[in-house]
This record gives sequence, C-alpha cells and structure tokens, in this order.
Amino acid sequence: MNYDFSEEAEKLFEAIRSIAATAPAEEDLAGATVDTISAALREMLKTLAGAGYLQDGLAGDASESAVNQMAAMETLAGQARSLFLAVEMSTRVLGRALARWGTGATQEQWREGLLQGQWIGALALSEEAMNVQNDPLATVGSRKDGRVVVSGGKHYVINAPLADKIGVVGLLDDRPAIFMLDAGTEGLSISEPVPTMGYDGIRMADVTLDACVLPEENVLLPPEGTPVLDLLRQWENEVLMAAALGMMQAAFAEARDFAKSHRSGGKPVIAYQEVGFKLSEMLTLYQTAQLLAYRAVWTLKDQPKEGAALIWCAKVFATEAAERVAGDALRILAGQGYRAGSASESAYRAAKWTQIGGISTEIARVRIGDQALGYAPGR
Ligand SMILES: Cc1cc2nc3c(=O)[nH]c(=O)nc-3n(C[C@H](O)[C@H](O)[C@H](O)COP(=O)(O)OP(=O)(O)OC[C@H]3O[C@@H](n4cnc5c(N)ncnc54)[C@H](O)[C@@H]3O)c2cc1C
Repeated sequence: MNYDFSEEAEKLFEAIRSIAATAPAEEDLAGATVDTISAALREMLKTLAGAGYLQDGLAGDASESAVNQMAAMETLAGQARSLFLAVEMSTRVLGRALARWGTGATQEQWREGLLQGQWIGALALSEEAMNVQNDPLATVGSRKDGRVVVSGGKHYVINAPLADKIGVVGLLDDRPAIFMLDAGTEGLSISEPVPTMGYDGIRMADVTLDACVLPEENVLLPPEGTPVLDLLRQWENEVLMAAALGMMQAAFAEARDFAKSHRSGGKPVIAYQEVGFKLSEMLTLYQTAQLLAYRAVWTLKDQPKEGAALIWCAKVFATEAAERVAGDALRILAGQGYRAGSASESAYRAAKWTQIGGISTEIARVRIGDQALGYAPGR
C-alpha cells in the first residue's frame, strides 16, 4: 500500500478545501429553512462536480484511487459536516447504485443528473428498525399492464424533504430493486423534517409510497444474486467512516490551536502536561482510524470478502474514536467548546449518528466475530 498522495490527488484535496471554505457554517444551517439548505447543497454539488469529486471512484478503479477517494471525502467532511453527508447520500450511495447497476436511457439520465450535481438525490432504505438486517423489506412493487405499482414506508431518509429524485429500495419479483421516484410522483408523501440531535444542516424525513405507479424503466434491478442491501450498507459505511475521520480532523485541529493560543494561569494551556497527553491520545486515535480506513478500502478493491470485514472493523473503530476525540477536545476547550458553534461540540453530537447508521456498531461487532470464527458468508 502506497501512502503518498499524487500531485493530482493533492490538487483535488486543495480544490475541495476551497469549495468547503465557501459553504455556510454548520451553526448557520441549524435553523435554516429547507429552501436555504437546498440552495447551499445545490451550489456545493455543482462546484464539486466541476472539480471531479462526485464522479471519483464510482467506476471500480484501482485500490490507490479508493484511498484517494477516502482522503478526499475526509477533507470535505472535516470542513462541511452536514453538506458532506447530504452530498454523499445523493451521489456516492444513490449515484453509485445507478453507476453500478443502471441500464437504459432513463437510468443513464438519472446517473448523469446526480453525478453532474444537477439534482439532489436520496436513498430510502430503512423501514421499521434495522430491518434490512433483521426482516425482509416490506416495500414491494408489483407489475401491472406494463407498469410497476409500489407501496411501502421508509424512515429517516436524508435529503428527502429537498430531493428531486428518491431511490426507494424494495422487492420486485421477490428480488431487491430500487424504485426511482421523482419528487412529485402521485402517491409519494414526505413527512415534515425530523428534528435530530446532531448534523444540524441535514434535513431528513419519513417517506410513504401509496400505490405509486412507475414505468418499468424507473426500476433499477441489479443482476440476480447481487448482495444489493449489503452493498448499499457498505457504501453508507464508507461515507460514515469518512465522516468520522473528518470529525476527528476538525476536533483535533480546534483543540490543538486553542491549547497553543489560550492562556490560563499565566501560560498557554498546552503547557499543562495533562492537556498535552490528551492531544497525543487524540492524534493517535485519529491517525490509527485513518490508516485502518485506508487499508479497508484498499483491500476491498481486490479482496471483497476480507475488505468487507475490514470495513466493519474500520467503521466501528473510527466512529467510536470520533466520539472520544471530540469529547476530549471539549475537555481541552472547556467553556469555549461547550458554546454552540464549536466544531468539537457539533462533532460530538454528530458522532453518535455515525455509530447507528450504515451497519450499527452492535451488528458490526457480531458480524466481525462471525467472520473471525469462519461462520459468515463474507458480506
Ligand atoms: C440521522 C439519521 C440519518 C439516517 N439516514 C438514512 C437514510 O438516508 N436512508 C435510510 O434508508 N436510512 C437512514 N437512517 C436509518 C438508519 O440507517 C438505521 O437503519 C435506523 O436508524 C435503524 O433503525 P432503529 O433506529 O429503529 O434501530 P433498531 O433496529 O431498533 O436498533 C436498536 C438497537 O438494537 C441493535 N440491533 C438491532 N438488530 C440487531 C442485530 N441483528 N444484531 C445486533 N444488534 C442489533 C441496534 O444496533 C441498536 O443498538 C438514518 C437514521 C438517522 C438517525
């Protein structure tokens, strides 16, 4: 594994930093309307598409570019926490599904629209509880007169209140399918945005489909035998891992800069040994999580079975480390950190979600154990 980034990769990181620097601050998005958030997200999608970020890594490139992509995602996540998640659900998850499994002109149009940043997308997967892991999907389509009629309900869908396009995961002909719905489709209803503990700038909602009628070309039907649900979860895991790395990057930088500049008792607080120890522990956790994340995506490209298990390990480690690093940063920042608007305060709240979303920490631990004992099918 080569740890050096090419000049081209460094240029992309720099471009992402400049784009993220122009995005509204997390605290400004907190109370913003859906329209304001939609405008900020559309602007970011457009500029990221121009920089080549949205299309990166979706074509099953080499291992090296998987590491570049993880580092690029971490760069964006470190500076624009909520917009990063909204961008990724639109492109790296829904856009990726279309890039991987799309066929025909309608699906090509969707893929292009999402990956060129023209549209906001959402992926509606979760139903009641962790049912993707625990129960069969209850969202089901049936064929009627050359069309498909779909009914079902989904919870906690990021971007749902602002999305132009929603990919709803369900069953057709007893196999997993993604039903592609335009925002105004008859029978599709979106709840009011669900208030959340963290990620102040995302807007998510519940989605209900009441006999929505779609042309057949609006159904993405991956080849039989494809582990669709596991792959979608895996892509979410990659996003949430990058989100956790971004949180650690931001919280560490904030605490380090504060420790050097803030004086207490006549000296900068970095001079207190316990503050230095905390920073060194935070940096160790951050860098270990980063290396494990890079190794996981690197391995995944050539060894899917080993890579999938490494992604679970890396996701559990990074998301738990993010809570710890943000928590330690808050201890160093003290009163300054506890005020709304601190990067560490927002990271501390957001970190909790990264442990729940994708594969949850609990389910991941069970799967990692199964894999180690040789019980697991691989994904
Ligand atoms: C902020 C946020 C954004 C989200 N965005 C999206 C989105 O864009 N699209 C989408 O489709 N979904 C999204 N979700 C849903 C998310 O991915 C989870 O699927 C959902 O939150 C889990 O359901 P639950 O909260 O009811 O947990 P429950 O299933 O009720 O789990 C409760 C507890 O039991 C544990 N548990 C459950 N099953 C097992 C098992 N088999 N083995 C071991 N432990 C288990 C869990 O780990 C957890 O600790 C989002 C959720 C949140 C909070």
